[in-house]
Amino acid sequence: MIQSRYLIRLDDACHTMDLAKWEQLETVFKEFGIRPIVGVIPNNRDKDFFLRPALSDSQFWNRIKDWRQAGWDIAMHGYEHILIPTGARSLVNLNARTEFAGLPYGVQEEKIRKGWEIFRAQGIEPKIWIAPAHSFDNETLRALANMTSIRIVSDTFAFGTYGCNGFSFIPQQLWKFVFFKRGTWTICLHPNSMNDKDFDRLYDALAKHHELFISVSDLDMRSRPRSLFEKIIERFWFNKGLIHSISRAKRSILCLFRS
Ligand SMILES: [Zn+2]
Repeated sequence: MIQSRYLIRLDDACHTMDLAKWEQLETVFKEFGIRPIVGVIPNNRDKDFFLRPALSDSQFWNRIKDWRQAGWDIAMHGYEHILIPTGARSLVNLNARTEFAGLPYGVQEEKIRKGWEIFRAQGIEPKIWIAPAHSFDNETLRALANMTSIRIVSDTFAFGTYGCNGFSFIPQQLWKFVFFKRGTWTICLHPNSMNDKDFDRLYDALAKHHELFISVSDLDMRSRPRSLFEKIIERFWFNKGLIHSISRAKRSILCLFRS
């Protein structure tokens, strides 16, 4: 019996997003009844997303409200999405760039407070946190707990939802549809950089498997701890992390021989 369930997550909604692509997704999701998580950057300063002339505040936020109305779950995707190089550990060891992980608590708190205020000024209360570049640490979670009502994080590897440090985690393990018989899987898409082939692939997956797709409201937010097995798999799953660990181990071994 097939017991797997899938969520879709869209990253990088911002004033200068490639709106035509987002509208193309709106159409596809309407056809198949998909209600994704959407990561909204409240005050984007990342030049990679300066793709179109900026929408006015009302145009942009009305769009976000339309999505909310359609049952999409709004997530806070950082503050400005400006990523700086870092060697700091993140709770997900995937990228060496960060807007949050490794920064002092006060700096993280200020960004989160400012981002949260922008949403609140629009009458929107995001329920979910999505860290830019998967880069966040325990100080980020502390700042979220102190400054916002967000208690759900979309990230990490696991086979289903779990609880940690007062937060519920919805794992995010995939970047395209891969069929599994069991587990809760989140597929992260970046609409701004999707090409025709990506759209075709998504359409085919939804045409075939749309009954496996759920939304956050269908999830049972479990407080079980993440298992050791899931933590071990994560090291392999996020391949860059594995490469990082191997090269770090190699460096340590070489050091031993040199000394
Ligand atoms: Zn992003």
